[in-house]
Amino acid sequence: MIRIKTADPYTFPFKTLNYIVIFAIRKTERKMSSNKIRVRFAPSPTGPLHMGGVRTALYNYLFAKKNNGTFIIRIEDTDQTRFVPGAQEYIMDALNWCGIIPDEGPGIGGNYGPYIQSERKEIYRPYAEELVKNDKAYYAFDTPEELDAVREQAKQMGMPNWQYNSVTRSSLKNSLTLSADEVQRRLDAGDPYVIRMKMPRNHDVRFEDQIRGWVVVNTNNLDDKVLFKSDGMPTYHLANIVDDHTMEITHVIRGEEWLPSAPLHVLLYDAFGWEAPKFAHLPLLLRPDGNGKLSKRDGDRLGFPVFPTNWTTAEGELYSGYRENGYFHGAFINMLAFLGWNPGTPQEIFSMAELIEAFSLERVGKAGAKFDPDKTKWFQQQYLKATPDAELAQILKKEFNLAENNEKLVAFCHLMKERATFVKDMMTEGAYLFNEPTSYDEQTVSKKWKADSSALMTEWKARLEAVSDFKPEAIEAAFKSFLEEKQLGIGAVLPLFRLLLTGAGTGPSMFEISAFLGKEESLKRMDAGLAKLQ
Ligand code: GLU
Repeated sequence: MIRIKTADPYTFPFKTLNYIVIFAIRKTERKMSSNKIRVRFAPSPTGPLHMGGVRTALYNYLFAKKNNGTFIIRIEDTDQTRFVPGAQEYIMDALNWCGIIPDEGPGIGGNYGPYIQSERKEIYRPYAEELVKNDKAYYAFDTPEELDAVREQAKQMGMPNWQYNSVTRSSLKNSLTLSADEVQRRLDAGDPYVIRMKMPRNHDVRFEDQIRGWVVVNTNNLDDKVLFKSDGMPTYHLANIVDDHTMEITHVIRGEEWLPSAPLHVLLYDAFGWEAPKFAHLPLLLRPDGNGKLSKRDGDRLGFPVFPTNWTTAEGELYSGYRENGYFHGAFINMLAFLGWNPGTPQEIFSMAELIEAFSLERVGKAGAKFDPDKTKWFQQQYLKATPDAELAQILKKEFNLAENNEKLVAFCHLMKERATFVKDMMTEGAYLFNEPTSYDEQTVSKKWKADSSALMTEWKARLEAVSDFKPEAIEAAFKSFLEEKQLGIGAVLPLFRLLLTGAGTGPSMFEISAFLGKEESLKRMDAGLAKLQ
């Protein structure tokens, strides 16, 4: 038994105890840190981010925030041939507009960087070599031309889907078939090679997907994927696994198109002796008619944006974005959240904070989610309606460079927002509130403007002039008593009044419009209209 009488840290037993305690603390710390949920969104900078990609980022973000976890952005640019300049900047800017703000990532920092795979290049080779050493992978020296020839030969023999796999590898040029000396000679001579996964034969790979349940795939259906390329770069598969492991990712939440790669990933974790993260493969986004995957080209073909923000290709081709089309980011995010997830209640309007609160992977469906452009507009309409008039006035002022005073703009937004989907609609719909009409809706003129209309409106003008407190209520009261006196219905008089003041056939309350314009302007417009419609 060790008895410690003093707190002298230099006594041997105490020192030992100290180490034990420190060791125990470190161990718990590590355990605590590995218990923390860490997820990543890992786009490849091969072009702009499709809205399906934004949804993947969103679900990762919601899941992380819901669970007090960390949301990471990692740029997967190992395939240099598909690199598109500007794509990374586009992705970061688009996510920022959406309010999907990473805790770690390029330009943000974090303890697990760098967060761009090309900057991590040196990390991967030793891992690939380790797999070769442990007989989980092998060097393959076959040239692309040799492989093309084998593929062609197989095709001639009626096998169009030839693969480099656990059967065919025994007749190809690799470290499993060549002698150890020959392999060494080739490596020393600097012969180009790739490192391939040594796929086990007839083995069932099982993993439990958080959305799809158990997935079982037999390795006889999988090929010996290249893990490390002859250009010294890892392939997506190797880099993805090494990074997810070293970045301590706990949940891989990504699109369904990656499900076929998951068995290989599970095997790679096994091969390294690492614990695999949990997988959740999100349902596909489908075209509005449910016919196939929503693709980059669909948007412009079917008349809605598929990208969060505008993207112009190097050739000058423009793909339009939600932001530039006038959508509020909240509406866009709210709509996206519902493409594959639902809260299980009738509530449809969710702020980001409410989405975080309500989100769970259990409520993400397996079936493809049909994109609905009309519903998307509906969300935007709801968000526009819910935006305070004063805030809309600010947006309007900025967007259209308006000189009107603030009070006037607030009143304008109050009048027009119910009838608009986008801020710009208020301007097109309500242009007459700023400028007197230059034309008069033909249909209303021919239907409503009769021989006695001028006389009637001249009379009404006199009543209007007599309204002293020029507010909607007072104007309405004057109008009602005028109708009573004349024994006329509202439909016989109001459209004429609207025509004179706005030139339009429909619109918001005429009493509010008239009050908005003020007495002087209202009377002036009546005179002008009466002169033109005589
Ligand atoms: N780089 C892959 C992509 O572009 C990421 C796949 C994954 O999340 O594992 O979608």
